[in-house]
Amino acid sequence: MKNPFDNEERSAFRNLLRNFVAAEITPFADQWDEAGEIPPELHQKVGALGVWGFGIDEKYGGLGFDEVFMRAAYGEEFARAGAGGVTAALAGRTISIEPIQRLASEAIRDRVLADIVSGKKASSLGVTEPGGGSDVAAMKTTARRDGDCFVLNGEKTFITGGMNSDYFVIGARTGGEGLRGISLFFVESDMPGFSRTEIKRKMGWWCSDTASLYFDDCRVPEGNLMGAIDTGFLAIMQNFNMERLVAIAAMLGMMKTCLEDSIAWANTRQTFGQPLIRHQVIRHKIAEMSARIDVVEAYLNQICWSCQQGEVPVAEISKGKFFSSKALEYVASEAMQIFGGAGYLRGNRVERIYREVKVMAIGGGSEEIMRDLAVRQMGL
Ligand SMILES: Cc1cc2nc3c(=O)[nH]c(=O)nc-3n(C[C@H](O)[C@H](O)[C@H](O)COP(=O)(O)OP(=O)(O)OC[C@H]3O[C@@H](n4cnc5c(N)ncnc54)[C@H](O)[C@@H]3O)c2cc1C
Repeated sequence: MKNPFDNEERSAFRNLLRNFVAAEITPFADQWDEAGEIPPELHQKVGALGVWGFGIDEKYGGLGFDEVFMRAAYGEEFARAGAGGVTAALAGRTISIEPIQRLASEAIRDRVLADIVSGKKASSLGVTEPGGGSDVAAMKTTARRDGDCFVLNGEKTFITGGMNSDYFVIGARTGGEGLRGISLFFVESDMPGFSRTEIKRKMGWWCSDTASLYFDDCRVPEGNLMGAIDTGFLAIMQNFNMERLVAIAAMLGMMKTCLEDSIAWANTRQTFGQPLIRHQVIRHKIAEMSARIDVVEAYLNQICWSCQQGEVPVAEISKGKFFSSKALEYVASEAMQIFGGAGYLRGNRVERIYREVKVMAIGGGSEEIMRDLAVRQMGL
């Protein structure tokens, strides 16, 4: 579908990403996912595309401007490889870089931002805890002031990129119960009292490392407090907006890949004397998949446009996220059905995307929480 908001810069950026993904990721994605890791040099190759530079000052190697359509293009084009684990292995930065740029001290920014933007170093965001991820305001990790330090105790889990990241943005309780007692901290992987273990045997995202993080009297200099004390909850919520928008774009890319592969298969596979694509039931599946993809694409473009006008369309982003994961669930399932038994075998993109539906429906704000937020934004 033609994007009415497209312009020369946006399509040039999208083409740059598309060509990169086709040459540098898609041919190897299956092999990397089975191996459980991506090549370390991929981080800097992707950094050179500028995808971690949105909204980041040029002095840190950033683009010096934000462009939400280009952020969405990054989400979509990388997802077209059909291996969410590759993007996830790189993506800890995508969800932690904004608070570092906006809230970390100048000394920290000067020391770390350029390396994160370029892909030389990695960063992750630690919000979720073993006790729960949806109820962010109930987090239990504590940060107690002690002289010129804060002492962190507690545990984070499901942290994307957590095994390989050098830097972490961590939410911890500095005040009383509830959302007004939470602060953000910049934590480095070599700080005493910090440790981590890998979460293995995930349903999907095999080549992305996911970690539990442990803070055992972890002393963090007071200058590593990010933003004002007890204001971390709002910062976490603000940060979720772009994470969710890029997730919608990624789901769009996943759906397009399912449709593309389904059409290719249906054109060649013969049953009852004709290609699958000639059977009306299969044609209707293709039509329905395509319609749902178009709806998500149009909605995403509208949301991007609204962001570019300086608005923060929280309700639309929330609705877009749960609507997209439901559309993805349908499209991936129908694609598997079109493939028949062949879809059940590892090594094809549809099979992998089918396994990666649920992380999109749960991570970064589950469908239930997105519906709840949307209806609250409607003033109800
Ligand atoms: C692969 C992976 C990577 C992740 N990466 C990160 C990361 O980098 N950083 C990070 O901080 N987190 C990360 N997460 C965590 C993710 O954001 C959480 O899993 C998510 O927010 C849900 O939290 P939970 O798993 O604790 O589920 P819970 O909060 O325990 O919820 C369980 C279920 O109950 C539903 N539910 C909860 N409350 C309600 C309610 N009030 N009404 C109705 N239903 C409700 C939820 O929607 C969910 O379906 C990751 C998760 C995965 C699986």
